[in-house]
Amino acid sequence: FHFINKKPKGKFIIRLSRDMSSIMKGAKSVARQLRNDLGIRFGETTPDGMFTLEWTSCIGMNYQAPAMMVNNEVFSNLTPPMVHRIIEECRQEARTRRPTVGNVGETFSSILSYSSHAPNSALTRAVEEMTPVDVASELTVSGLKGRGGAGFPTGVKWSLAAKAEGDVKYIICNADEGEPGTFKDRVLLGKYADLVFEGMTLAGYAVGAREGIVYLRYEYTHLRPHLEAVLEARRQANLLGENILGKDGFSFDIRIHMGAGAYVCGEETALIESLEGRRGEPRNRPPYPVEKGLHGRPTVVNNVETLATASCIIARGVNWFTSIGTERSKGFKLFSVSGDCARPGVYELPWGMTVRQLLELVDGVGAKAVQVGGYTGELVPESQFDRVMGYEDLGIGGSIIVYGKGRDMLEVAENYLEFFVEESCGQCTGCRIGNQKLLDGVRLLQKGTCSNRYLNDLIGLSHSIKTTSKCGLGQASPNVFIAINEHFKEEIMARPVLAA
Ligand code: SF4
Repeated sequence: FHFINKKPKGKFIIRLSRDMSSIMKGAKSVARQLRNDLGIRFGETTPDGMFTLEWTSCIGMNYQAPAMMVNNEVFSNLTPPMVHRIIEECRQEARTRRPTVGNVGETFSSILSYSSHAPNSALTRAVEEMTPVDVASELTVSGLKGRGGAGFPTGVKWSLAAKAEGDVKYIICNADEGEPGTFKDRVLLGKYADLVFEGMTLAGYAVGAREGIVYLRYEYTHLRPHLEAVLEARRQANLLGENILGKDGFSFDIRIHMGAGAYVCGEETALIESLEGRRGEPRNRPPYPVEKGLHGRPTVVNNVETLATASCIIARGVNWFTSIGTERSKGFKLFSVSGDCARPGVYELPWGMTVRQLLELVDGVGAKAVQVGGYTGELVPESQFDRVMGYEDLGIGGSIIVYGKGRDMLEVAENYLEFFVEESCGQCTGCRIGNQKLLDGVRLLQKGTCSNRYLNDLIGLSHSIKTTSKCGLGQASPNVFIAINEHFKEEIMARPVLAA
């Protein structure tokens, strides 16, 4: 596990992203350049202690892949010559180049719900015109569902926490955006942090909480100074602190807590364990966090995008929001698009588009498959591109990875399973050992040394992993293998699978 790894690290710790979008855009040639320049393999430190080279999963830069972190600075759109220059600059102990994260908004295609939001208009309206019950009720009527992927109704969650017994309550913003292929929350925090903090403050008002915590993923450490500055400005403007906007008794403040790089801490109960100083492992439920969460107190955990959207709804009203989207999927959604398409980026779109329409928008025409909802989502083959993105069909967390005609789907399965093996917290035998066995099987398939009988056993193992795993990670980890076996069987059989 990362957190007990006590090996000495170099002065410059280089972490190269190896999610599938990065591999498709040239991460392997970048890795080769790094190995050549540094004379070490991944997982090693140079003899002079200057450099440590590590693989990491997605760092939230997929549409500018390949990308890497040098300590906490982010470099994207890498090529081997660029990597060579960066290493030289590090060697000269010159200041490294400014990170390229500044251009993340360039492809933010928007129906303007965020950029047209009048600053703090939601909070002003709530304080001046609404009771706490009104705020939660309005969100319930709006039909807003959690944008992190689980899709629980936000207003219902706030109402439950408001009704739960307890003098102390918490609001947690889940900014542990670790799903490979997802980078929308990073963009929101970079461009619209005020909106996210406004949503947290609204939640505090509705629920009766005085403390909010942003659980920020370790790989987004570079965002922290900006977020702290926005928080301080809000305190100065009486948008945080005591008697907010002059409302007697309405006090709320927000602090930032850094994650330690574990994907499973995106699961809300594992996140709470981590916040309490323990290993990030999912808890048994019930009780649910709205009843017994952080320190045993009623706790609301909402995704970054959910909180920003809640602000928009309270500011502009339910009718505006419900006029967008479909009958069962109200409003708009942010999608992080990467992979084999000409226009990757973050797109804000109404629910209800088909996969095919989205591919036309991002110029991913000719794709053989699309992964919707990140690695734990669903692999949609070309024959199903008319499926609808919305809770009635593909109710997803917001990551879209496009696979072009030439992609090797077994390589995709190998990459996903490597990720799940690395990130399993180890509580469940099926997840801890089953995924490793599944990965071993995929590698045998790649070499053409897997028997038919073993292939069938792998399918059975996949279903066992799903049913014996406690949390979403294990329950979804074999999805990609099952889907490839179902939709791309000819690719598996093209390798010489042994009869026995
Ligand atoms: Fe941990 Fe995997 Fe079990 Fe989830 S399914 S609790 S990640 S071992």
